Amino acid sequence: MRLHWHRTDLRPSDNRALVSPDADPVLPVYVFDPKVLTHAAPPRMAFVLDSLDALREWYRARESDLLVVRGEAPAELARLAEKHDADAVSWAQAYSGLGRRRDDRVRDRLAEMGVETHTVHDHLHHEPGSITTNDGDPYSVYSYFWKKWRDREKASSVPAPGADRLAATTATTPLPTLADLGFDDPEATIPDGGYMTARHRLNDFCDGPIYEYEEARDDPAAAATSRLSPHLTHGTVGVRTVHDRVVRARENAPDDAAREAVETFRGELAWREFYHHVLYFNPEVVTENYREYEHDIEWRDDPETLQAWKDGETGYPIVDAGMRQLRAEAYMHNRVRMIVASFLTKDLLVDWREGYDWFRQKLVDHNPANDNGGWQWAASTGTDAQPYFRIFNPMTQGERHDPDAEYIREYVPELRGVDADVIHGWHECSEAERESAAPDYPAPIVDHSERREAALEMFERARGEADE
Ligand SMILES: Cc1cc2nc3c(=O)[nH]c(=O)nc-3n(C[C@H](O)[C@H](O)[C@H](O)COP(=O)(O)OP(=O)(O)OC[C@H]3O[C@@H](n4cnc5c(N)ncnc54)[C@H](O)[C@@H]3O)c2cc1C
Repeated sequence: MRLHWHRTDLRPSDNRALVSPDADPVLPVYVFDPKVLTHAAPPRMAFVLDSLDALREWYRARESDLLVVRGEAPAELARLAEKHDADAVSWAQAYSGLGRRRDDRVRDRLAEMGVETHTVHDHLHHEPGSITTNDGDPYSVYSYFWKKWRDREKASSVPAPGADRLAATTATTPLPTLADLGFDDPEATIPDGGYMTARHRLNDFCDGPIYEYEEARDDPAAAATSRLSPHLTHGTVGVRTVHDRVVRARENAPDDAAREAVETFRGELAWREFYHHVLYFNPEVVTENYREYEHDIEWRDDPETLQAWKDGETGYPIVDAGMRQLRAEAYMHNRVRMIVASFLTKDLLVDWREGYDWFRQKLVDHNPANDNGGWQWAASTGTDAQPYFRIFNPMTQGERHDPDAEYIREYVPELRGVDADVIHGWHECSEAERESAAPDYPAPIVDHSERREAALEMFERARGEADE
């Protein structure tokens, strides 16, 4: 008997750790570990519970079951291995520092009992360390990483294990509820989880919208991206399945422009892998700047403006629309994530860690690699960081990417009856104009031009240039 420990691989197919060349029947298990739960949040937990439900049904239809236990993973897996006389435990390799330390503890505990462990590389196409500079170092610049990632051969997806490979069992413990686990209901409406939802979303996207991706991906109102991020984060779809389907879409592309759009989408999949490699080699980035400055960056401690940012009450319409989308859907469009992250760090001058922590609590797709990569990029502290002097202008960003203010009006109801020109010029309106157009919507809480100068000075001081 082999136990398979499901974590962020909540799917039966294209799961390299679940299928194994050995002939032993496999008994699947999920552990609600209190140490891991302290890092979780209601949106992600709701998605996980929904996905576990679907996975359990899949096993039950094959006269097997998903065991669900609560307790610290090393002790629980040791107990289950003993109870079921398992001689091996398999799982998909973790890439974060926290995950790897936990896996080491499990491995040590099982080794003491003589139980073998199989950790399988599964969440990425190319393992950390397999795409490096010619000197063997990990890349810190995405464009070079991409060239190698793009051309490297990729493994294809693997089928789900047959029913004959699964241990016949009936689990008696029901799945816990959010309340059982100590979580409140999420504030947002959470997208459906589960491996079938992921499969449908992938197919729908690859049947058409992928061909418009290049043109429409930066338009938040068009909702033209795949929305696969919660599925890739929680593993309700495997990366090989996604890539196989994307390659098929490329083969069926009607013209060169459509083929190029597919390639742009592949580039986003590569960003995900790039940030996972960065996290693997620099686990400290979850709390520390990746890029070193000569002096500490003098971020401002400003609870009032931070709260206005969280509430979507900054008086910058595109920022507020994004922050409200996050609260409503536990998701935010990528372009708008960049805008709100730049606004927090370069306009409010608040530490990126505050933003990262809010996203960690609110996003259904949060994973430390992508979230941290996105925040440190925006804050000019990361790998491949945008230079500190390139500061997003929230008004021109709104005007360029949401010209008709369609996205803004969807999430900021106070601005629904207001002309797009007035919305994009909100910072220039007089008090009387604002009062007449949208009395319930706030005036800008800071002046962008002044803050831009303050941000440049803050970074120059950190670079030691202000002393010269
Ligand atoms: C400040 C900030 C925080 C972010 N936090 C997260 C996060 O916690 N989790 C997360 O999955 N993504 C994060 N991203 C990246 C990106 O915004 C989301 O992956 C994307 O918006 C998800 O929507 P989608 O699935 O429709 O993306 P699509 O455009 O359809 O892209 C397909 C997939 O590629 C990957 N991807 C796309 N863009 C990026 C990117 N810039 N970096 C890394 N991977 C990418 C994701 O897995 C995504 O699902 C963050 C970006 C920023 C700027």
